[in-house]
Amino acid sequence: MEEFYREVSRWGLTGKTGKPVRKSVLASILSNPFYYGVMRYRGEHYEASHPPLVSKKLFDRVQEVLAQQSKPMKRDRIKYAFLGLMRCAECGCMITAETQKGHVYYPCTKKRGPCGQKFLRKEALLEQLRNAILKIHVDDETSKKIVERWEAFAEDSSQASASRSRQIEDELKACDEKMERLLDLYIAREIGPEEYQRKKGKLLDEKQALKEKLGEIESGGGGWLELAKTFLSACNQAYSVAW
Ligand SMILES: [Zn+2]
Repeated sequence: MEEFYREVSRWGLTGKTGKPVRKSVLASILSNPFYYGVMRYRGEHYEASHPPLVSKKLFDRVQEVLAQQSKPMKRDRIKYAFLGLMRCAECGCMITAETQKGHVYYPCTKKRGPCGQKFLRKEALLEQLRNAILKIHVDDETSKKIVERWEAFAEDSSQASASRSRQIEDELKACDEKMERLLDLYIAREIGPEEYQRKKGKLLDEKQALKEKLGEIESGGGGWLELAKTFLSACNQAYSVAW
């Protein structure tokens, strides 16, 4: 959030008064559903007519990061490489890091009780990582075969996604119907305004998520094939990143 605030200040973004946007305003912008297409007005939720600026998926991810950041940050994560990514092979606990006499050591946290592992010097850890990287290397021929399989699979799944699209369209229709019924209940005073708003907001979110899913399917099956190919090509080049 600090970094984002600095970045925004650098852009020279100002509020209505011409003064730089305050941090609290930035935070409220980041958590306003308006930007993914749902409007809040006087406590009521509306489906906005403007095209969404961000996807609901990205919005949800931002909320996760904001929630994480409100917890105190561990400074060690910045100081040592690979922290939080490794577990002890013997006991499964996280690996921590410390500096002793100018050397960096990576010991097991041993939080689950006794563990026979001694600490690992940084150099030895790098050697282990290097060997691990070499293990995931995939040669050209194998990688070509894998891609062929994937492409055949993608062909099959594009047929499956057509039927999935139809299903989502039905679900969207069901959402609209539920909203109508909800309104009827509200008009008939069978539910109060609070319950009405809460349920309507939930349905609008559901609808937005469905619309995004539909968009993803229509724009080429979520692009998994491209992601998978990128991953494979990283494995293929694994030799060149080993130090
Ligand atoms: Zn251990």
